[in-house]
Amino acid sequence: MLIAEQLSRHYIVRQGMFKPKGLVKALDGVSFTLEPGQTLAVVGESGCGKSTLARQVTMIEKPTGGSLYLDGHNVAQANHKTLKQLRPLVQMVFQNPYASLNPRKQIGTMLAEPLLINTALSGSERREKVQEMMARVGLRSEFFARYPHMFSGGQRQRIAIARALMLDPKIVVADEPVSALDVSIQAQVLNLLMDLQEQTGVAYLFVSHNLAVVEHIAHEVMVMYLGKTVEQGSKTQIFAKPLHPYTRALLASTPKLKASDRQIRVQLQGELPSPLNPPSGCTFHKRCPYAVARCREEVPELRSFNGQWAACHRVEEIS
Ligand code: SF4
Repeated sequence: MLIAEQLSRHYIVRQGMFKPKGLVKALDGVSFTLEPGQTLAVVGESGCGKSTLARQVTMIEKPTGGSLYLDGHNVAQANHKTLKQLRPLVQMVFQNPYASLNPRKQIGTMLAEPLLINTALSGSERREKVQEMMARVGLRSEFFARYPHMFSGGQRQRIAIARALMLDPKIVVADEPVSALDVSIQAQVLNLLMDLQEQTGVAYLFVSHNLAVVEHIAHEVMVMYLGKTVEQGSKTQIFAKPLHPYTRALLASTPKLKASDRQIRVQLQGELPSPLNPPSGCTFHKRCPYAVARCREEVPELRSFNGQWAACHRVEEIS
């Protein structure tokens, strides 16, 4: 359904009146595939490139390098007409359900809008489809004429999910979809997303910094650091045996109830470096407790370890 090969998005930025322009490699040579009915979770700290990746997949921006194949078409080279055909295939659910819904529109009108723009359905057919979708996401039919301010955060996120699914997309990009919700509501929304995936076969690109949430919903996990993939594998591989020190540090910072589930403690030192001036060699070396001289000089390749990928010179020794 979706294949990214060495996908890059670089930005030229001004640093000041008399300073030379800088280059930010927000996304730098990222490759992955997304199959129907699967969830690929993209994790990392703010500024690691997760949201830039989401913008490429939703076709809000064009990549500056590599290829992105959606349903067999290379998005990077697609013309206006092809992009118009491809856009309904990918929909988005945003982080903040309070900001992503128009406060002046009734829920029914909002949900019918994608059908009005993209299909030839009659008014009564649209209404029927909207009510069907409302029932699927657990919203009562009498909510049809209500406005967003009349709903709780969890209900608003259900509305946002319903709107994203109105055109039967193949992919939904969910950008931190539960991080603005109460913990008690998060599980309900995650379970709803999983049920809908089972019913429709939709694939999710799930962007999150919360590993507890990722463990619940993901099939595959991709860990990003400063625009690059540092580790990639199945959920079981990543959570049972993380190979990269950065993944270990992220996992160690997630609370676990059972002592046996706790990871070897790798503590992150310092902050994420500026993407305008990334460190040489392995960009993680300034924060990595295992860094040696080689790490400062040589960029580590993403290597396969029984189908699990990691970009670290010292995987064998650390493991
Ligand atoms: Fe740490 Fe070196 Fe591995 Fe980078 S390559 S993660 S600095 S051990």
